[in-house]
This record gives sequence, structure tokens and C-alpha cells, in this order.
Amino acid sequence: MYTKRQIVDLLNEKDEGVLRDLFRRADEVRREFAGDAVHLRGLIEFSNHCRRDCLYCGLRRSNGKAVRYRMEIPEIFSQAVEAKNLGFHTVVLQSGEDSYYTAKDLAALVRDIKESLSIAVTLSIGERTYEDYKRMKEAGADRYLLRFETTDPILFKALKPDSHYAKRFLCLRWLRELGYQLGSGSMVGLPGQTVESLAADILKYKELDLDMIGLGPYISHPDTPLAGCANGTMDMVLKVTAIARIVTRNAHMPATTASGTIDPEGRQKALQCGANVLMPNLTPRQYREHYLIYPDKICIDEEPVKCRSCVDGMAAALGRTISTDAGHSLKMARQ
Ligand code: SAH
Repeated sequence: MYTKRQIVDLLNEKDEGVLRDLFRRADEVRREFAGDAVHLRGLIEFSNHCRRDCLYCGLRRSNGKAVRYRMEIPEIFSQAVEAKNLGFHTVVLQSGEDSYYTAKDLAALVRDIKESLSIAVTLSIGERTYEDYKRMKEAGADRYLLRFETTDPILFKALKPDSHYAKRFLCLRWLRELGYQLGSGSMVGLPGQTVESLAADILKYKELDLDMIGLGPYISHPDTPLAGCANGTMDMVLKVTAIARIVTRNAHMPATTASGTIDPEGRQKALQCGANVLMPNLTPRQYREHYLIYPDKICIDEEPVKCRSCVDGMAAALGRTISTDAGHSLKMARQ
């Protein structure tokens, strides 16, 4: 286990030999604790309405240029059926923070998906009340993704002016208590983020004992107050991925779409530095181009079936297989 100082040094490391060793070690730890099978999570971005005003995000409520859409519950269900038909064992239902969807409606949707499709359901819909989380869990939701975005409280406040740092972590605690498999994570390369705070993010993944860690580069969106800021780099994303894998060992870690956006080989590289999950976009095509948390998102024009064949090819080219099970938490005691 690394100390914070050692993590900072590795994040600053430029020597190619040292980095090659780091990445090789991360790949070995991934193989030992997560295996060679890549887990697929079918992502359905069902609404881009958001009550928040996060400075980095294209879905922020002040972005008047965003074309807003909402999928109705039956349409979300149909898309989950499509996911199942394409061989996915997990759907991730993600949206902005949109109170249009009541916990009752979402719970009914989750129950329908669980009863008729028997696939795992991950929710990623931001901060909600304890009662809402409870209701959706009781309806059968398996997992929840809520990135803490950064462990730096000052940066958090600056970038998420209408959110509260302590509340975000309280939500994570509630989700854990309620028995969700818990996913969280952060962005790499946020304006004003230091390597010390990135090191703290990695140690926080460990402390939270996450079942899943989502991390990707910050990508500057032109219609936000951070327009023109530098993007996170793939080099730094790979370092954070590799160290996070070595430190946390048995968490699921996706090679994110954001990594594929800043580098055409980004997801493949992440898969070789500790990542073991891919999240192909299964949002219906007519909505996809409008879920622009960041610009130039990849796969905007692709039909879900094409995404499926693309990721199958990607895994095969790396000598990896595609998992045939739901890919629940690797932390046995919690399953
Ligand atoms: N509303 C949900 C889902 C947010 S979108 C929630 O609050 O959890 C999913 C993730 O996209 C966010 O958690 C954030 O880490 C990431 N994201 C947002 N804007 C981004 C940007 N400009 N570049 C890279 N990632 C971004």
C-alpha cells in the first residue's frame, strides 16, 4: 500500500521505465483480482435535465444552448429490453438531477426491469433523499454510481456552487447503508486540481471501500464557465487508474467514454492499466447527441448493436474475454 507521498511522487513521475513498471503491476493486480473478462454495462442516459449548475458540465441548468429531452418510463424500459437482447447483463440508468422522475416511478421501472429481464440495475441520478434511495433499493436496484468528483472541499465548492461537499459524502454513506453496491469516483485534470488532491482522491476510493470506481479526464465544454480550460490528460488518467487498481485491488473500474474521447486508444490503454469494465452507450440515437456533459463525445452516431460489436472487438484485440455474468461486486462478503 502506498503512502500519500509515494502516490504524489508516482503522479509526478516522468521516467518511462518506472511508469511501464507501474502499469504492468496494475495490469497484474487487475488480472489477479478481477480476471480477464471485461464486464459490459449498457448505459441509458434517460434525461439531460438538471437542477444543478456545476461549472464543468454541459448539462448545467444555466446552459441555455443544451437541447433538453426526457425519456418516458416505458421508453426507458424498452431500451432496457434492447440491452438485454444485445446480451448485456447490466443497465446503468443515468440522468441529470431531474425531479420530474419521482422515486415511485423509478422504483416501478426498476421493479419491472428486475422482474421481466433479470438483469442488474445501476442507478446514477445524483443526490436524492434517503427515502428515495431506500424505495429504489427495495424495488430491486443493485448498484448506485455517485462520483464525489473531487476530495478537495474548496475545489468542490467552486465547481459545484449549489451542492454541498458533506451532503455528497452523506449520500454515499446512505447508499452503502442501504446495501447498494457502491460506485463513486472523480474527474482527473479539473482546473485548479493538484496532484496532492488527486492522491487524496485515490486514498478516498480505498477508504470508501468502493465496489466500483469511475474516473476519467475532465473535458472542457464550450458552453460552460470553464470554456477554454485545459482538458485532463490521458497520461494522468492512466497513472490514477493504475495506482487506484493497485491500492484498491478488487474494485470494478471502467475504461470510460471520456478517456475514449480525449484519446482514440484511451479505453484500450485504460484496460491495460487496471480497468476491467466498459460502458457502451445504449441511449437511443435521437437523444444521444444531446447528453453532452462534455463535447465531442464518441459513438454519437452509432446504433446500440454497433456499440456491442465494437466493444467485443476491443476486448478480443487485447486478448480479453467478455463476461457472461452480471459482474456484481468483487467484494464477496457483500454480494
Ligand atoms: N447527475 C448525476 C450523473 C452525472 S453525469 C450525478 O450527479 O451523479 C456523470 C459524470 O460525468 C459526473 O459524475 C462527472 O464526473 C462527469 N462529468 C461531468 N462533466 C464532465 C466534463 N466536462 N468532463 C468530464 N466528465 C464530466
